[in-house]
Amino acid sequence: MATSSVFGSVHGVLHSTPFQLAGNLTVLLAIVFWLGLAYWMFRDVRRRVADPLLVGISALLGIAVPYLGALIYLLFRPPETLAEVRARQLEVRALEERLVRPRERCPVCHSESEPGYLVCPVCTTRLREPCRQCDAPLEPLWQMCPYCATPVTSPPTLEPVADDLDAALTRESSRSRQPSTRPAAS
Ligand SMILES: [Zn+2]
Ligand SMILES: [Zn+2]
Repeated sequence: MATSSVFGSVHGVLHSTPFQLAGNLTVLLAIVFWLGLAYWMFRDVRRRVADPLLVGISALLGIAVPYLGALIYLLFRPPETLAEVRARQLEVRALEERLVRPRERCPVCHSESEPGYLVCPVCTTRLREPCRQCDAPLEPLWQMCPYCATPVTSPPTLEPVADDLDAALTRESSRSRQPSTRPAAS
């Protein structure tokens, strides 16, 4: 009589709703974790592998072999993503181009210079004029600044020369007028 009541109470505890709820929750979490892992694997393999067949096999592995599939995938996945591989290739190519391209030299003293230099640091020869809008160094042949689209005007050193020319011309004309009036007066 006493034992049957104990069994009954144990049976009742095991099948009570909190236990059922906890069990269902555990199963639900396991399924969510399994599907989440499979989805993460699919996204990760697409970032690392270009071959669609390998992407499909990895996605299948994540679905067909719960949890263990992700572990196997982690052991064999490529160490770099496709974007990282592309960035590395671009970096290497830029480095190669920089090494192959001949170094720029000062036309006067032939010491090495950089594309951003305005003057030669060794002999102080003017190599480039700065943009009047953004101060970027401009190559002599450029008609427009490639950084801010400001048209390149003639260097400011020419303007005082033009002023001097005007002054010289007016001086010349006034001087030529003076001798013409002098003989008329005498
Ligand atoms: Zn120089
Ligand atoms: Zn500019």
